[in-house]
Amino acid sequence: MQIERKILLNPGPATTTDTVKMAQIVPDICPREKEFASMMKQMREDLVRIVHGSPDKYTSVLFCGSGTINIDVCLNSLLPEGKKILIVNNGAYSARAAEVCEYYHLPFINLRFPVDELPDLAQIETALKENPDIALVHTTHNETGTGILNPIREIGALVHKYHAVFTVDTTSTYAMRPINIEEDQIDFCMASAQKGLMAMTGLSFIVGNREIIKKSAEYPKRSYYCNLYLQYHFFETTGEMHFTPPVQTIYAARQAIREYFAEGEETKWQRHLSVFHAIHEGLDRLGFKDIIKRKWQAGLVVSVRYPDDANWDFEKIHDYCYDRGFTIYPGKISSQNTFRLCALGAITTEDIKNFFDIFEEALKKYEIKIPVQYND
Ligand SMILES: *Cc1c(COP(=O)(O)O)cnc(C)c1O
Repeated sequence: MQIERKILLNPGPATTTDTVKMAQIVPDICPREKEFASMMKQMREDLVRIVHGSPDKYTSVLFCGSGTINIDVCLNSLLPEGKKILIVNNGAYSARAAEVCEYYHLPFINLRFPVDELPDLAQIETALKENPDIALVHTTHNETGTGILNPIREIGALVHKYHAVFTVDTTSTYAMRPINIEEDQIDFCMASAQKGLMAMTGLSFIVGNREIIKKSAEYPKRSYYCNLYLQYHFFETTGEMHFTPPVQTIYAARQAIREYFAEGEETKWQRHLSVFHAIHEGLDRLGFKDIIKRKWQAGLVVSVRYPDDANWDFEKIHDYCYDRGFTIYPGKISSQNTFRLCALGAITTEDIKNFFDIFEEALKKYEIKIPVQYND
């Protein structure tokens, strides 16, 4: 079967290989069969291995849902009674975590920083010192809305100095930018299969500290479907997800994990980086400006300012590229008009070169001045 190849430059779902797509075509199976459980057991171990966790200390727990389910699960499940959460918030995905706290009525401090700045470690330490009831600190590794890389190792060291638990949203770095869960001071990280793993949507997972999960059995149960301990316990005792798993998506994820290890952590990361650099080269050549200082960018997402040109119309440029097989994506910053080009997925620098040919054609067709102009 020939499947048309599309180049997705949006921040996930990512371009997948045909072998991952085809891995979904399997004989019908009831996921309560031993055959399926043994596949999930292997997958749980592999997901820990990707972040170099020791299998005794760390485990993984799978959920059926998009990546946001992980944020929901971690925050509602890992907060003891009478304690507080600290959200280190410099972007859209940490803001989402703050909303999760609001929806569950969890006591929390929303420690906000500008979206184009790194969080200030001194302010984080002050918050921890002044609020000894903070039991959980959450932040985002690569803020996908802007592409800024947060200093999780330094934040994590502070969190642990004050004996709190550190949950990190690594959805847009996991299986791309190398992570070492222990050295990076992470207690819980998370992702969905459609991003770094380059598999299908609908499967998400949390990798984290087994002892902390066990301890959380005594914490208030705030959700029926999204409780970390309940799902962990069900996996440990039966080998299965508590409720129906996304069967075909799991077959695709198994294939994607095989391809991940075949490509290799470092080779894959270098490929993403070379795509990222190719995106910068293309943008520089056309005069576009990005939002985040280059040295702070995580190497996966470029957030680009709209040019000051009366003819600029993102929708039109998007549609022109989309009709030719390339998907670009709007930004996620409320204060500035931006779009994003991302280096996720099974793509290469050749794809980026082809993209910029089309992108430049679009700019010319709609009479946008090249190099593009900014008023400041
Ligand atoms: C993609 C992503 C998520 C999950 O978003 P969904 O809309 O649920 O797919 C969460 N956090 C980060 C940092 C992400 O990039």
